[in-house]
Amino acid sequence: MRGLTYTIAETPDAAVAQFADAGGDARYIAGGTNIYDLMKLRIERPVRLIDVSRIEGLDTIETDGDVLRFGGRALMADVARTPIVRDEYPVLAESLLKAASQQLRNMATVGGNLLQRTRCMYFRNGAGSLSTVGVYPCNKREPGSGCAAIGGLDRTQAVLGTSEACTAVAPGDWPVALTALDATIEIFGPEGTRTVPIADFYRLPGDTPHREFNIDPGELVTAITVRKTPAGRTSTYHKIRDRESYAFALASAAVAIDMDGDSVRTAHIALGGVATTPWRARAAERVVTGAPLTPDQALRAGQAAFAEARAGQHNAFKIELGARVIADALLIAAQRRA
Ligand SMILES: Cc1cc2nc3c(=O)[nH]c(=O)nc-3n(C[C@H](O)[C@H](O)[C@H](O)COP(=O)(O)OP(=O)(O)OC[C@H]3O[C@@H](n4cnc5c(N)ncnc54)[C@H](O)[C@@H]3O)c2cc1C
Repeated sequence: MRGLTYTIAETPDAAVAQFADAGGDARYIAGGTNIYDLMKLRIERPVRLIDVSRIEGLDTIETDGDVLRFGGRALMADVARTPIVRDEYPVLAESLLKAASQQLRNMATVGGNLLQRTRCMYFRNGAGSLSTVGVYPCNKREPGSGCAAIGGLDRTQAVLGTSEACTAVAPGDWPVALTALDATIEIFGPEGTRTVPIADFYRLPGDTPHREFNIDPGELVTAITVRKTPAGRTSTYHKIRDRESYAFALASAAVAIDMDGDSVRTAHIALGGVATTPWRARAAERVVTGAPLTPDQALRAGQAAFAEARAGQHNAFKIELGARVIADALLIAAQRRA
């Protein structure tokens, strides 16, 4: 039987020191809504859990000049109901409100949401609750073992950013909205604080799908910042799922646009549910920028986002669905212009 130690860190320094003490087999725990799940499935097997949910000052939600700043352990529910987020950045509020359930959002943190792991059923089910050996191969869970999703039941798998080793979808909604708004992640570690643009925070699977994030063991997400933009108010998070609540995205789009009359001055578009990372849809942005936004133009933008998509046996529907989700999101956002 493996022992498990639980400690509480009251400061970022203490968290990092406790992690170093554990010699690498530690995990931070914030809301616990993902890590406990993975421990029950024996996918995560830490010997030490370091509770970072009480660190002073890491739960603040503040405006600093032209920057919105969310502490790493701010609750998803609290961020979603903050007036400036709700009123000025609907894309952020909606990405949170359309995630999980109210009970989960009351526990889960915006930092933990960035680092949740994929819901790919082969990743999650393969390890089994009693066995330590996976029933299905999964390169993300056991590097080099293979990928049962490729050629398997791949209805929910990614069509963008996939590799020969992995097609698992990035699960979070909030990181998609943050990607559209070019957010920055503040990370504290043994060497001090560094900041990473969200575009560099997530790794494509390539041949190392087990490495999903550009954060080192023991580093702590202390904050997420978003620069204010006139596009914030003209924004939406549009999410299509198998049921209207309590389900991960089949396809989603975070859209924020700055409009001049009927024309789009600038567009920020990111996708969820269809890619192996939160996915910036630059090709779609190029199609709509500088032109009047019509339903046909919006659909052309959606289709451009999937020009490089590669489907498996059961997930080709995501290409058409994803294009339409972008188109609808653009039109919803445009209706919100002042
Ligand atoms: C039934 C169900 C449905 C869900 N549906 C959705 C959905 O539709 N959309 C969606 O986006 N999410 C969904 N989720 C996922 C949920 O949003 C995440 O589990 C949650 O956001 C994780 O936050 P947490 O604080 O609980 O993280 P934890 O479980 O505490 O931690 C998750 C990971 O992050 C690490 N971590 C936590 N905080 C920090 C930090 N500050 N610095 C460094 N590392 C840290 C932990 O070590 C761990 O590896 C669902 C979850 C469940 C159980």
